[in-house]
Amino acid sequence: MPSFVPSLRKPKMPPWPRSQRGPVPLPRSGSLLCATLSLWHLRGCFWGNRAQCGCVPPPLPAQCHSGPFQLLEIVRKEDVVLKAILTTHHHWDHARGNEELAQLLPGLQVFGADERVGALTHRVSHGQELAFGSIRVRCLFTPCHTSGHMCYFMWEDDSPDAPALFSGDTLFVGGCGQFFEGTAEQMLTNLTQILGALPRDTKVFCGHECTVRNLKFALKVEPENEKVKEKLAWAKQRDDEDLPTVPSTLEEEFLYNPFLRVTEEAVQRFTGRTEPVEVLRALRSQRDNFKKPKERLNPQAVLAFDWGLFEPFLEKK
Ligand SMILES: [Zn+2]
Repeated sequence: MPSFVPSLRKPKMPPWPRSQRGPVPLPRSGSLLCATLSLWHLRGCFWGNRAQCGCVPPPLPAQCHSGPFQLLEIVRKEDVVLKAILTTHHHWDHARGNEELAQLLPGLQVFGADERVGALTHRVSHGQELAFGSIRVRCLFTPCHTSGHMCYFMWEDDSPDAPALFSGDTLFVGGCGQFFEGTAEQMLTNLTQILGALPRDTKVFCGHECTVRNLKFALKVEPENEKVKEKLAWAKQRDDEDLPTVPSTLEEEFLYNPFLRVTEEAVQRFTGRTEPVEVLRALRSQRDNFKKPKERLNPQAVLAFDWGLFEPFLEKK
């Protein structure tokens, strides 16, 4: 069994950043196991092989207290040994399970770029490369959603599989994260020079499943964009069947994600701006105000309320 100690190599200059160097052939990846696991609406991503594995922990909804245990159950079923966790940022819905996992699995390595990440053991920096057996990870610092947000770009040498990007809450399918601790300037750099410069066939594994809502906003921005319409119809169908819409590819994202299309005329027209950073700032602000529709109650539930069938279950004031 290979020893599963990641080597923390010094960042290598070439072949990065790509945007300034033109296309660089990426190592091909073959047995990269990158399963998206759908548990309710959780999403966890594992990579590795039978002997070793790591994971980007799934975001946990507020009502779920068993996240780490579900993850361990998957580890057990898959017959793998969980050795490392890559945490994108400190928000509780991405990092809350770390402490429990670290207690349950002594020696577990927790990587991240922010001291606020729970149970952090390895603080990584921009451009740093990690190796997990034959699987390689490049850390991409993308501050804005939080000031310590890190994305992880992953591939396997000598493998035909496309590389994978774990984009946390920076890039979503059809959208981008909120600017909680950063600026539009930072997000523009993240989206255009860091993530946007990755190979176009990169699979995008984002932190949340908010594709339909994102694409509804994208359609408001670009009502004539056929790619937005197609992807939205597909995402609604997937939602109805309770199937994930993640991953997408970077190539696809450039076709319908307005936050990656700030130089497109239609997007500029919608925002009334032409300077890319101003277009992005305006888009984000419009998206923040793009309210969720009011929950429509199921007609049977409304009838049941009318008939007082819930009465015995309601708390009396
Ligand atoms: Zn977040």
